[in-house]
Amino acid sequence: MAENLKPSSGYAPVIGLEIHVQLKTKSKMFCDSPNNPDETAPNKNICEICTGQPGTLPVANREAVRLAVIVGQALNCRIEEYSKFDRKNYFYPDLPKGYQISQYDRPIAQNGYLDIEVPGENGGSASKRIRIRRAHLEEDAGKNIHPEGADYSLVDFNRAGTPLLEIVTEPDIASAKEAKIFLQELRNIIRYIGAGSADMEKGTMRLEPNISVRKPGQLELPAYKVEVKNINSFRFAESAIEYEIARQAEILKEGGMPKQVTMGWNEKAGQTMEQREKEEANDYRYFPEPDLPILHFSKEYLEEALASIPELPAQKRARFKREYGLPDADIRNLTEWKELTEFFEEAISELDELAGKALPLKFAKMAANWCLQDFSALLNAAKINPLESKVTPHNFAELIKLIEQSKISATAGKQVLAKMFELGGEPSRIMEDLGLAQVSDAAVIEQAINKVVSENAKAVADYKAGLQKSFGFLVGMAMKELKGKGNPQVVNDLLKKKLE
Ligand code: ADP
Ligand code: MG
Repeated sequence: MAENLKPSSGYAPVIGLEIHVQLKTKSKMFCDSPNNPDETAPNKNICEICTGQPGTLPVANREAVRLAVIVGQALNCRIEEYSKFDRKNYFYPDLPKGYQISQYDRPIAQNGYLDIEVPGENGGSASKRIRIRRAHLEEDAGKNIHPEGADYSLVDFNRAGTPLLEIVTEPDIASAKEAKIFLQELRNIIRYIGAGSADMEKGTMRLEPNISVRKPGQLELPAYKVEVKNINSFRFAESAIEYEIARQAEILKEGGMPKQVTMGWNEKAGQTMEQREKEEANDYRYFPEPDLPILHFSKEYLEEALASIPELPAQKRARFKREYGLPDADIRNLTEWKELTEFFEEAISELDELAGKALPLKFAKMAANWCLQDFSALLNAAKINPLESKVTPHNFAELIKLIEQSKISATAGKQVLAKMFELGGEPSRIMEDLGLAQVSDAAVIEQAINKVVSENAKAVADYKAGLQKSFGFLVGMAMKELKGKGNPQVVNDLLKKKLE
């Protein structure tokens, strides 16, 4: 139960999350059919086992178990020495066996937590601990398809038997915003570990929030809770939770008591709709799966698993702050996109080599900005990730260096990056080919300035009479004379000198 509940001031939401993550394994949870969430041809990745034919036997997927263990460890859970599978019995056309193999009283992981950064007082941020009750392995069901207007339904078993990790939090979350932050952090952890794509839009991460509301002054948790299904994006998650909070608070204000039900989020209507009264656990007649052995985790196995966990998002954020002094928002945006972070880090190590000795912090800032702005825009437009692009970290680092050394202007740099993105290649070559090299040669710039000064006597006089604006105008004219390629700093300095 929620820790140290204080009496609620006002109507206070109480939220616990159940999250299903599809694990990224080659084959399904209990057979060797391919586990491919992108398969579009129906009933392609199936076999006797995942379609529940009589007389077949399941075999647990070693990699799915390993991923479940390390996600559990990353969520600071206790991994017991023994874990087992159970049958959860229910009937549904997409569940041909008549039961789902899941875990009941011996889940792989229990009693963990995840610390998230939530908005604090005075616009700052605060750390909040969300306790993880458990994480267990189970198999997914198939998909029922109801073609529009047809008087029949279809079943696609491609998803049947794919490995899911179900993660259940304690009801420690106090707003839709906190739920979203928690989900994003969890998604990033799953992705950093490589345990799954954790993509809500694609259904490889699914959320069922449980929501209740406490009355003003209420100390204990509400006796009811409402579960919401059919949420398939971060945006829907926020809207559905906010809608439920308002709906329940309204009932409480009128002296009523919300019913304990399962609701579905209806995006078109922008509201939740009642689906069914919730089953009790004993309706499922859970019992130990007799066809699978008990899992035993040796000390060595668990140590090895723990050692294989890569740097997690929170650690990476702290390191980026320490090593590069980047602004918090930049760090957050960078680390939200795992592949972009990897690209950034490779570019930084290239810059390290190019810079010779200690890398100036300014390089890291520039690299982060270019990653987050122009490079991200190109990637998003092409719908690819940084590791698939023709821009190598080495060439990206070269470009940053050219800009930093004023061999090319930032504006021209954008053109060069776009060309690199389109065709690949070295930025210095592209810069030459496009004639974009920045002019820093004092003699060339002076010549342009002399011309501009002699042709714009009035602006010169205005400037000398104290009109600052005229200086900008003259810089603009000189830049035009230099076809936009003059080094702005040199143009400024020489013009100032000339007008003294
Ligand atoms: P059930 O046995 O009905 O599945 P659980 O107690 O196991 O219910 O909890 C399921 C989920 O509901 C958990 O994520 C838990 O944190 C959350 N939960 C429990 N009580 C509440 C409550 N009063 N309000 C909101 N969420 C709750
Ligand atoms: Mg479940």
